[in-house]
Amino acid sequence: MDLNQIYLAYSSGGKHLEKIDLHIHSKYSDGSLTVKDVIELCIDSGISAISITDHDEIAGNREAKEFCLNRNIQVISGIEITTTWKIPLHILAYDFDDTKEEMINLCKNAKMYRLMEFSSIIGKLKKNGINVDAKKMLEMKINSVSELAKYLYSWGLGESVQDVKRKFFSYGGIAFVNKKGPSLENVISLVHECGGKAILAHPGRMRVSNQNFWSCIEEIKEKGIDGIEVYSPHNHNSDELLSYCLTNHLIYTGGSDFHSKKGGAIGINNRVPLSWIKK
Ligand SMILES: [Zn+2]
Repeated sequence: MDLNQIYLAYSSGGKHLEKIDLHIHSKYSDGSLTVKDVIELCIDSGISAISITDHDEIAGNREAKEFCLNRNIQVISGIEITTTWKIPLHILAYDFDDTKEEMINLCKNAKMYRLMEFSSIIGKLKKNGINVDAKKMLEMKINSVSELAKYLYSWGLGESVQDVKRKFFSYGGIAFVNKKGPSLENVISLVHECGGKAILAHPGRMRVSNQNFWSCIEEIKEKGIDGIEVYSPHNHNSDELLSYCLTNHLIYTGGSDFHSKKGGAIGINNRVPLSWIKK
């Protein structure tokens, strides 16, 4: 049986062939567009189901649902949660109850982690002779890596904002800090308590050697995740990941990880059966 036949065998009535995007960022985290603008872009691109998955933030969900009420587009609650494990991992949670105290607290705690992370980034920049004034940052409301990168770019410290991000803040950069968050186990059980599904985001971005990739996936599965983001621009082995999901009865999802129009197209033409996420 080839993969296309497996898709059809596992998916319902052709509905799943629609264009969807279950991994989208808005201004509520590090995206460049407002929720409204991002949804209008989705509608213009012919996308029929979306999830706003801001980093450790659920604020965009309600706005998205209200905005889409009379529009021909389905919204699934979403969030992308940074977890602490052997390696940094992002977990996408879908279709959870966003009024639950646990989820609200998770977002609050994440803000605290982010603030701590931001001050250690500033500390590292200073150590390397880049004198960024923390007080001024506060005044200018610069409190994220993306905004800081734009600011440093305006100082002429890189060829582009992306170049600044790569040089200073990405793995190996002079101001790189390991993002901290709740443990993988805690995140999975919290998502389940809130009635949602916990999905491993873009495995292609895991900082792990090719040799250890599958043992890592296996370990994460054993922790109790419900599925894997099989279709992502960050993945290079979607077919293998799909087979793995089917063999292990895991949900498979897909999304563009959209942050801005410059960063790549929104939407993903794939065969993700939404019925697995949205009951
Ligand atoms: Zn993302």
